[in-house]
Amino acid sequence: MDYNALADLLFPDVTQSPDDMEKRFPARELPEGACVTRIGPSPTGFVHLGNLYNAIIGERLAHQSGGVFYLRIEDTDNKREVEGAVETLINAMNYFNVNFDEGATADGDKGAYGPYRQRQRKDIYHVFAKKLVQMGKAYPCFLTAEEIDAIREQQTANKENPGIYGKYAKCRDLTIDEVKADIAEGKEWVLRFRGEETGEYITVEDAIRGKVEMPRNNMDFVLLKSDGIPTYHFAHVVDDHLMHSTHVIRGEEWLSSLPMHVELFNTLGWKQPIYCHTATLMKIEGTGKRKLSKRKDPELALSYYQQEGISQDVVWEFLLTLLNSNYEEWRLADPEADYREFPYSIAKMSISGALVDLDKLRSISKETICRMSAEKIYENWLGWCEQYNTEFAELIKKYHERTIAALNVGRNAAKPRKDIETWKQACDFMSFYYDETFKVTEDMPAECSAEDVKTFFSKYLETYDHSDDSSAWFAKVKEITEALGYAVKPKDFKKNPEQYKGSIVHITNMIRIALTGHANAPDIWEVSHVLGEDIVRKRLEKWA
Ligand code: GLU
Repeated sequence: MDYNALADLLFPDVTQSPDDMEKRFPARELPEGACVTRIGPSPTGFVHLGNLYNAIIGERLAHQSGGVFYLRIEDTDNKREVEGAVETLINAMNYFNVNFDEGATADGDKGAYGPYRQRQRKDIYHVFAKKLVQMGKAYPCFLTAEEIDAIREQQTANKENPGIYGKYAKCRDLTIDEVKADIAEGKEWVLRFRGEETGEYITVEDAIRGKVEMPRNNMDFVLLKSDGIPTYHFAHVVDDHLMHSTHVIRGEEWLSSLPMHVELFNTLGWKQPIYCHTATLMKIEGTGKRKLSKRKDPELALSYYQQEGISQDVVWEFLLTLLNSNYEEWRLADPEADYREFPYSIAKMSISGALVDLDKLRSISKETICRMSAEKIYENWLGWCEQYNTEFAELIKKYHERTIAALNVGRNAAKPRKDIETWKQACDFMSFYYDETFKVTEDMPAECSAEDVKTFFSKYLETYDHSDDSSAWFAKVKEITEALGYAVKPKDFKKNPEQYKGSIVHITNMIRIALTGHANAPDIWEVSHVLGEDIVRKRLEKWA
C-alpha cells in the first residue's frame, strides 16, 4: 500500500505539515518548573462541581508555579452542545474566582495557542491525521453502524472483548482502489488508528494515583468521525501537545482510555503530559457512598452554590479540604490567611472518592463568614443580592451604615457569632434590621401571660434610656423581672419552679421577639443600638 497516496486521497486539502504546526505553536517561554494546565469542559450548559474541583487543581498548580492556566472548549460532540453554554461556563468560573490566563472567551479567544474551541481546530487535527495515514498508522474505515452492531453481537457470543481490532478491523487492508471506489460511491468513513496486538503492558506515573499499569492499546479506535471532527482521544493528544500542557487534570472516568492516549503520544513521538486523574465526587447515602447524580443531587450543579448564595470563598475552602488532606490543619494554624497562600500539593490528594458533605460545607461556611470583616461580608452579600434578590440589594444599600453596624454585632468578640451561613439565609436572618422586612413570627414565651407582656413592656419603656450602657440597661431589666415575679437567676427558677412565673430567660426572649421577631437573636442591647431609639420604641410600644 502506498500510504502517501492514501493520505493525499483522504486529505487533499491539507497542505501544511506537522512542522508548520510546531512553528505555529512554539514552546512557551516560562520559568523552570512552571506548570501549564487547563480545563477542557464540553459546552453542555451544565457546569458541575467536578468542573470547579478540577479547575481549582489546575489553577493552583499553574499560578503557584508562575505558569499558565487556560480554558479549552471541547465541543467535538455536537449532540451535547447547548447555546450560550460557553458563556454560562465562563460566568460560573468567574463567579468562583477562577481566572484563566488564556483560552476561550464568551465570544472569541485570548492567547497565542488558539483557537481554543476544538471545532475551530479541525484543520490542525487533519494535518496530524494525514501524517498518521502516511505513517501507515491510520486508515479509513467504512463499517456501517449495523456492521459494527453485528460485530459486537458476535464478540459477545464468543465472549471476546468488544471493539474494532485484529480480525474485526475489516477495512484495515483495503487497497487504494477499494478505498477510492468506496469514496466515489459516497460511503461515509471514519479514520481509525491501526492498533497492534502485542500483549504488552504500559505504565504511567499518575501524579495522583502513582504507578498505573494497563494493557497496551490494541484497538483500532476512531481518530476522526465521519464529519472530520476528531474524537476526544485525538483532540486531547494534539491539543495538549500543541498548547504545551504540562499536566492533564481530568476525572478518573478517563483512566480507561489512557492506553489510547499513550499510544498516540508515542506514535507521534511526543512527550506525554503528567496525568492527574481525579477522584469522582461522591456522597453518603444511608450506610454507603454513591456517585453524585445530576438528576438526584442539586448540589452537583455549580449553579446550586450560586443560587443558594454560598460564598465563593466557602466553596474554595470546602474543595480545598477535599483536595488536600492537610488543608484543615493549615487553616486551623492560620485562620486569617487567604486560601491562596496554602501550598497546594498534588501529592497530597486522595484517590478514594471525594466526599461532598453538605453539613460539612455549612459548617465551613459559618466558620469562614464569621472570620470575615463586616465590610467584606457586605460586599459579597450585596454582589449576590444584586443578582438574586434585588429588593434586598436596594435595602442594604439604603441602610448601608446600619447594615455594617448590624454585621458587626457579636463579630469582634473572642468567639464571634456564627449567624450567617449563606447569602440567601443572610437575607432572612438580617431582615429584622429593616422595618420593610421586619416580621414577628414567633409567639411570646408560654410562661409570660398577655398581662405580664403588657406590664413588662410598659415598665421597660418607662425606664428605658437609650444612653444607658449595657450593664445599666441590664440592671433595669432585672429589676422589672423581679417585680413581676420571675427569677433573675435561671437556676433559681430551675430549682424552685413553683416559686416563680418564669425566669429572666423568658423575659429576655420576650424582648428579643418584640425587637427582632425571634427568641434566637443577638444581644438585645447591641441590637437596640444598631436599630436606634425610634425603632426600638416603635417596635416595643405595640406590646405595651
Ligand atoms: N471534555 C472532557 C470532559 O468534559 C475533558 C477531559 C479533559 O480534561 O481532558 O470530561
